[in-house]
Amino acid sequence: MDQDMNYGSDYKYIPTTSIQSGMGIEVLPDLYCHTVQIVNIHLVGKPESNEFVLVDAGMPHSAEKIISTTEERFGENSRPKAIILTHGHFDHVGAIIELVEHWQVPVYAHELEMPFLTGQKAYPEPDPTVEGGMVSKMSPIFPNEPIDLGNHIETLPSDGSVPHMPEFKWIHTPGHAPGHVSLFREKDRALIAGDAFVTVKQEYLYKVLTQEQEISGPPRYLTTDWKAAKESVKKLAALNPSVAVTGHGFSMFGEELSESLEKLILHFDSIAVPDYGKYVDKNLH
Ligand SMILES: [Zn+2]
Ligand SMILES: [Zn+2]
Repeated sequence: MDQDMNYGSDYKYIPTTSIQSGMGIEVLPDLYCHTVQIVNIHLVGKPESNEFVLVDAGMPHSAEKIISTTEERFGENSRPKAIILTHGHFDHVGAIIELVEHWQVPVYAHELEMPFLTGQKAYPEPDPTVEGGMVSKMSPIFPNEPIDLGNHIETLPSDGSVPHMPEFKWIHTPGHAPGHVSLFREKDRALIAGDAFVTVKQEYLYKVLTQEQEISGPPRYLTTDWKAAKESVKKLAALNPSVAVTGHGFSMFGEELSESLEKLILHFDSIAVPDYGKYVDKNLH
């Protein structure tokens, strides 16, 4: 492994899965969603072109699968122009070091995520006491120590543009993580939401396993700022997206998406915010 890149000291394989694991869906001709265990990665770009980008980097020890998925879609030895991170949680950067070593491409993230990606600061501990099911209970084993990408990581441009994704803009959607971003394309109102909201109740093992579709706020055990999380969902709903892909769960389209977002905002405190947990502000209830 490169001397200048390291995972956190608590980095490890996480034994969890879903029926969607290993599967891929072409959501749009240039937007491919592939599930690694319980998290989605996105390949943005037309299959016949060699101009594409990877959004997020999967679970720990999934690099080989991500590389083979990429080569299946874009051809042997293909490599993205860059990797864009919606945020730096372990399930979105799990294979990033092997991918950077293999592809030698730059990684971009919001400047407020930099401390977690350059070895300076750990994320707050996941909260296993949060209201929710088995996945919340197992969250203490989730890595939260910072990884260090050294000089392989760069800050997203401040003008909202996304390197190598000319039609997309990044939107700051904090709450789940301080520097969380979502990516939006005005032309067809396509949204890559990351974990700003998700379409599966990520806390419940059974729902994760079966990927029962249900709009939800960000995964609870890692979300620390619920007020900001709600504002972020409002910001995304105001864009009136026609399709959304999320960090967890299936993609959602059209009316189902707009109605679900409306419902999530209207009932955010009961749908998204847990009734109890160490990051729950009592004043919100
Ligand atoms: Zn996350
Ligand atoms: Zn996630």
